[in-house]
Amino acid sequence: MINFNVPPYVETAADYIQECVKNQKICGDGTYTKKCSAWIEERTHTAKCLLTTSCTHATEMAALLAGVKAGDEVIMPSYTFVSTADAFVLRGAVPVFVDIRPDTMNIDETKIEAAITERTKGIVPVHYAGISCEMDTIMDIAARHGLWVIEDAAQGILSTYKGKPLGTIGDYGCFSFHETKNYSMGEGGALLIRDAENIEHAEIIREKGTDRSKFFRGQVDKYTWVDYGSSYLPSDMNAAYLYAQLEIADVINDKRLALWNRYYENLSPLAEAGKLVLPTVPAGCVHNAHMFYAKAADLKERTALIAHLKANEILSVFHYIPLHTAPAGVKYGRFHGEDICTTRESERLFRLPMYYTLTEEQVDYICEKVKEFYA
Ligand SMILES: *Cc1c(COP(=O)(O)O)cnc(C)c1O
Repeated sequence: MINFNVPPYVETAADYIQECVKNQKICGDGTYTKKCSAWIEERTHTAKCLLTTSCTHATEMAALLAGVKAGDEVIMPSYTFVSTADAFVLRGAVPVFVDIRPDTMNIDETKIEAAITERTKGIVPVHYAGISCEMDTIMDIAARHGLWVIEDAAQGILSTYKGKPLGTIGDYGCFSFHETKNYSMGEGGALLIRDAENIEHAEIIREKGTDRSKFFRGQVDKYTWVDYGSSYLPSDMNAAYLYAQLEIADVINDKRLALWNRYYENLSPLAEAGKLVLPTVPAGCVHNAHMFYAKAADLKERTALIAHLKANEILSVFHYIPLHTAPAGVKYGRFHGEDICTTRESERLFRLPMYYTLTEEQVDYICEKVKEFYA
C-alpha cells in the first residue's frame, strides 16, 4: 500500500532526543527550541519566531496579540482547516467567510473588500498547498481599512511571495509542524512576529502571562504575573525531533519539489485533454511542494477515482469540507456573498501521496493508475 502521508524522520533526531533525556532537559525553551527558532528567524528574516505546541495555538496567540474581542469580524476563506476559524471563535469573534479562487483554492482577494463592515478587524489569508495568496492586494486592503493580517501559513514554510517568505508578510504568521506537514515535531508550530514592538507581549502570553522570558535573559530579578496568558511552549524533545529535519531542510524541500514536478509532468497530458485540472502556481510565487492535488470533473468522478486508486493500493484523499457548511460554521460564522467556487471546487479536489520518502517510481506508478482510470 502506498500511504497518503509518512511523517518526516531524520536519523539524527534519535541522538538529539537522547541528549535531551540524558541531560534531563526536556522542558520548554531548551537548546533545541532555541536552535529551531534561530533557524526559522534566519531563513525567514523575521523579527522573532516563537515555537509553539501547534499552529492552532500559534493562531490563538496571534488572536490574543491582535486584541480580538467578542463581536469582532474576521475575514477568511471557508475552504480551510477548522483551526483558522477556531482561534477567533474562542475569543467570541465571527468568522466571515468569502469565496476562493478556483486556480489556487486561496481566498479570492477581489471579494474581500465587499465583506468589510465597521466590525471587521482583520483578514486571515490561508496559503493553501504552500502556494501564496495574492498578498499585495490583501496587505493594501488591510492598510486602507486599518485591519491586521494574520497569515495561516501552516503549510507554507519556505514558500515565498515575490521573494518574501510566507508567514512574514502579515502582522503575524503561523506555521505548523504537525506530522502531516513538510517538517514535523509530532505536534507543534511556530508564531512569526513581524514587528519587534510586539515581541515582548507575545513572550508574556506564551509564558502564562508572566515575564519569565525576561527573567531568563537576566532583565528582571524575578518573574511575575503581568498579563493574561496561557502555556504555549513545546517540550524541547519535540524541538529536537524537528531540528534534525531543519538541518537538512533544503534536501527535503528539493526532494518534495522533484516529486511534485514529476506528478505535474506525468499528468499534464490528462490536463491538456481536459480530463483533470492541475494546480496553478501564480507568477511571483515559489512553493514548497507541500501537497500535490488535482481536480476531477465532479464529486462522483472523484469518488470513483479515489476508489480506483485504493483498489490499486494507493491512498488518495479529498480535503476540507467548507467551514460554512459545518455545524460550528453555521453557528458561529457567516458566508459573505455567493459560494460560487468554495463548495464546487472542494468537491472535485483530491490529493495524491506526497512525502519525503516517496520515490519517483511510486509517483510514476500512481500516475499510471490515474491515467488508467481516465483511459
Ligand atoms: C495543519 C493546519 C493547521 C493546524 O495545524 P496544527 O499544528 O495541527 O494545529 C491550521 N491551518 C492549516 C491550513 C493547516 O493545514
